[in-house]
Amino acid sequence: MLVGTAVAAVPTIDDPAQLLKLADSIKTSDHPEFLQLMGRLDGEATKLSSQQQLYLRYLKAWEAGYQGDYETATPLLNAVIAESMDATLRFRAGTTLVNNLVIGSRYEDAFARVSQLLDQLPQIVDTNARIQALGTAGFLYNEAGQYDLGQHYASQMLSENLNDEGSCKGRFLQAQSLYQSGKFTTLDKQPGDAIAACNKASEFIFANTIRFYVASFDIQHGHSSAAIKLLQENYADVRRIGYPELISDFDSSLAQAYWNEGDIALAKQYAQAAVDDGVKHEFTKSLTSAYELLYLIAKKQGDLDAALIYHEKYMAADKGYLNDVSAKALAFQTVRQQVVAKKLQIDALNKQNQILQLQQSLDKKASETSRLYILLLLVVLAFIAFWTYRIKRSQLRFMKLARRDGLTGIFNRQHFVSSAELQLQYCKKSGRQACLVLIDLDHFKVVNDTHGHAVGDRVLKRAVEACEQHLRSTDIFGRLGGEEFGIVLPECTLDQAVNRAEQIRVAIATAVTDDDMPGIPISASFGVATIARSGYELRQLLIHADDGLYLAKREGRNRVSVCYDTQPRQRVAGVATDRA
Ligand code: GH3
Ligand code: MG
Ligand code: MG
Repeated sequence: MLVGTAVAAVPTIDDPAQLLKLADSIKTSDHPEFLQLMGRLDGEATKLSSQQQLYLRYLKAWEAGYQGDYETATPLLNAVIAESMDATLRFRAGTTLVNNLVIGSRYEDAFARVSQLLDQLPQIVDTNARIQALGTAGFLYNEAGQYDLGQHYASQMLSENLNDEGSCKGRFLQAQSLYQSGKFTTLDKQPGDAIAACNKASEFIFANTIRFYVASFDIQHGHSSAAIKLLQENYADVRRIGYPELISDFDSSLAQAYWNEGDIALAKQYAQAAVDDGVKHEFTKSLTSAYELLYLIAKKQGDLDAALIYHEKYMAADKGYLNDVSAKALAFQTVRQQVVAKKLQIDALNKQNQILQLQQSLDKKASETSRLYILLLLVVLAFIAFWTYRIKRSQLRFMKLARRDGLTGIFNRQHFVSSAELQLQYCKKSGRQACLVLIDLDHFKVVNDTHGHAVGDRVLKRAVEACEQHLRSTDIFGRLGGEEFGIVLPECTLDQAVNRAEQIRVAIATAVTDDDMPGIPISASFGVATIARSGYELRQLLIHADDGLYLAKREGRNRVSVCYDTQPRQRVAGVATDRA
């Protein structure tokens, strides 16, 4: 009976349009059935029209994104956006792409895309597509600290003709922008309504995230026991859902609440859980506060070694989290400037056209008033030109900022990697040599521990200045993280690269010991790799340079090493020794 019903419910492959629509409508609600339909559609793909194939591609991209495989999803989505004739499908693909860009930390592209989507919104009638785009825009603007815009899109969502899911997400977005902007309050009925709407839609991640906002509000206002009650009532549920960010939000709030109530053992247990089960490879606010608590607890218990370790992790998490927040804010500003500049340029062109037309008619009429009008338009044009110039200038400044490391002003990791890959491709095409040098300061932790972080920061800057003295304009120099740097040296053989690394080594060892920071001995270890042995792939060069760096550290630091497994070569304080 059951089998019979299931077969009857699924249309035959003769009707691919209906099959595609069905698959689309059950993607999340019945994912196994969706996968089965996708398998069938794939098998019969040749029977689909070209537009239906694009629809299928969109669904495949959606599935890839659902599985976290954004590299597969992105080109599929771009193809749909470029080729589909269906405006709604193009629009939906654009929205999905924005989500992928955000997850891949490509905020500038994400903001540029979202502003295009919002421009297209008036032409889109499909409610679900509209809600999806408004939700994505709202989330993104909240993330960038643009809470008014977040609120605006939440209200716009709530004014649409909403189903349960949309009504939950709109209210959630409202709560989120209130919470993040510090205006959230449990005195209002908004949080209660939002939780009810999300429960009704079975969107439990959203419902529990709002409970987390409520608990945070309670904790901040001295009602830690109420927060504990609320979080514990829903704790098992949140664990069962298994969404790492939410789990660590719950754990870290519970830790804070127990700490406030004086229950150190439970505070420690939940802070540790927030650290262990939180989002991997990402810094979040909850991770930061969990490390801070672990630090405070260790200090209170007199375990100073542990306190130091946790304090360092707390600082690193805090810095990482703030960097991510400012990257988003910066990307938002950059794109906003670009959009304004584009609008001004279009305005200027329109005005120029008007002037031309008027001039033509003036030839006939030669009227005084028209002349005056032209003068006026010219003034407006000059004004627009002036503003375009100013905006272009600040745009350039923002772009530069987004590529630089905040402390040292040299390329940050992301920009170093993309520039290095470009340079290596160029060298490959023109058959040129190139080398990669990795630099890691020696015992830098000791500098921080002995003299404090601020002095550590100054030492980092001085080390960078010392490197820069020995770089050519074509070399690519960047901070890869912490006290680790990379240099790509184009048109450089291995011997030349080792010599230049050696000069830099001496420069660092002498620079930071002079007058401004007496008594702080500092040095660096170097690993060098060449394209002649590793090829032109940056990844492979990094692996081999890192082998060299590791060897340099092992052999006693303050030296330049090359390590290609079979024939490691080494230089100690400027003297090359072949050890093979
Ligand atoms: P090794 O010789 O083995 O490289 O020892 P190390 O102490 O340099 O190595 P480790 O990688 O363990 O320590 C790096 C330290 O760099 C840890 C962290 O405190 C510090 N650090 C990372 N980023 C910064 C920063 O921006 N400023 C300061 N002051 N310190 C930083
Ligand atoms: Mg080091
Ligand atoms: Mg290091």
